[in-house]
Amino acid sequence: MTGQLLLASGNAHKLAELRRLTAGLDLAILGLADVTPYPEPAETGATFEANALIKAAAGAAATGLPTLADDSGIEVDVLNGMPGVRSARWAGVGATDAENLDLLIRQLADVEDERRGCRFVCAVALVWPAQPGVQRDPVVLRRAVEGTALRRPRGSNGFGYDPIFLPVGHDRTTAEMSAAEKDAISHRGQALRAILPDLAALAVG
Ligand code: IMP
Repeated sequence: MTGQLLLASGNAHKLAELRRLTAGLDLAILGLADVTPYPEPAETGATFEANALIKAAAGAAATGLPTLADDSGIEVDVLNGMPGVRSARWAGVGATDAENLDLLIRQLADVEDERRGCRFVCAVALVWPAQPGVQRDPVVLRRAVEGTALRRPRGSNGFGYDPIFLPVGHDRTTAEMSAAEKDAISHRGQALRAILPDLAALAVG
């Protein structure tokens, strides 16, 4: 029987990416649009892991399906790891990607080249619905890709902070890479690939 997994995210790109990655598995990936709507929880965690777990647990409780969720952002060394879990709201609640990016560029304007280290981080959490007599611990893991924050944006692919993110060992920003090139090195690509064995187990039983 085909297994089912809910991805607790309204982001169509993430859904497509997960479907590409799991194409070889006997697993139907549902998005939030495929299930009865439920109130999405506030992302109140202090860490990426905590927020991923909050989102996955809410999905599993509301739908009764095994649920995967992610939380991601950019950590800048000279800002003590911020924007971090506040990456999506860095310029304020409801800020656009362009506003968040512009604010970060201005905050880093006077920072020397050798102190511009940063990383994209992604935590993923897989939560099973409660079943009488069965206790399954959630799987939570984090992956990161190290880089340097550029002074000026380069490239128009991707989203968010991609135009200033130059991954270590590369000469193009993640906004200058194709989706496939970025997936191969990105924090989210790495985290999703790392959790694939657990998803494969869902497909078989
Ligand atoms: P969320 O995990 O979808 O809530 O994303 C959090 C925020 O982190 C996004 O709004 C972006 O600002 C930033 N972010 C996460 N992943 C990436 C990425 O791959 N490229 C650029 N920005 C990212």
